[in-house]
Amino acid sequence: MSLALMNLSLARAHLDRAAHLRSDEGALAELFAHGKIFQVNKGKFIFTDSLHWIPAAEAPSGDRYFLGLDDAGVGYFAINAPFAEGTEDLLTLREAGLLATEIEVGAAVHGVALANWHDTHTHCARCGAETYSALGGSVRKCRTDDSEHYPRTDSAVIVLVRDSENRILLGRQKVWPAKRYSNFAGFLEPGESLEACVKREVLEEAGVRIDQIEYMGSQAWPFPASIMLAFTGVVENPDDARADGEEIEDLRWYSHESFTADLKSGELLIPPGISIARRMIEAWYGGSIDFPEAWR
Ligand SMILES: [Zn+2]
Repeated sequence: MSLALMNLSLARAHLDRAAHLRSDEGALAELFAHGKIFQVNKGKFIFTDSLHWIPAAEAPSGDRYFLGLDDAGVGYFAINAPFAEGTEDLLTLREAGLLATEIEVGAAVHGVALANWHDTHTHCARCGAETYSALGGSVRKCRTDDSEHYPRTDSAVIVLVRDSENRILLGRQKVWPAKRYSNFAGFLEPGESLEACVKREVLEEAGVRIDQIEYMGSQAWPFPASIMLAFTGVVENPDDARADGEEIEDLRWYSHESFTADLKSGELLIPPGISIARRMIEAWYGGSIDFPEAWR
């Protein structure tokens, strides 16, 4: 059974980032003049049937981020600027991520992630002076000491826990409404390998040790700055599973049959289609699950 994750909603990007153009201001200006431009601010953008593109002549003022080129060589840009009061059809990636085309989702994920980072890194971590966006938005530079600061992505692992009979273990966070269950997840700590992080998170949250760890896939999760790295592992001692009582308040082991029964009866709600957690569960299940989505 292959548990590799294909075509994740937010990992369908289809733009060439063309990093060699970031230092060429003339080329970027020319691309912008004929480019595909959208406005982004605080995780939102205008999306109706598609991403709303703005002609260069009508583009608002604000930081411009160069996102890359499509197959025809057209340049894509995000402008980070507040939307006018009353702007309609403002969506987030959670809402538009399943609807957007590959080109749109690539531009939107990149633009949202960059805007999130720029908004929170306005000053130099070395000397405290103001920084400014440079190289097409791919870096910030300090006005005082000229140091360069690069966008940060926080690594988080998420784990599909199985036993030798191919049951899966799902957990419920205290903060979730009743009947909502998902996989175990947590942030990578400094100096830690991904494998060690996977084992630690499952031991902390569910009280069991896992082995046979395999990588499943990844997708950016810019809420505000994560990447979700999916793994699966096998428990040797399934009967020892205990919720930690802090972050996780309940655990359930599911066979294919009991999982299907609980979904149908409404006794189990699972993560939305945009999430890697949903796709991990579907990979184990053996196909897409057509039940109402649980939560956003
Ligand atoms: Zn500085």
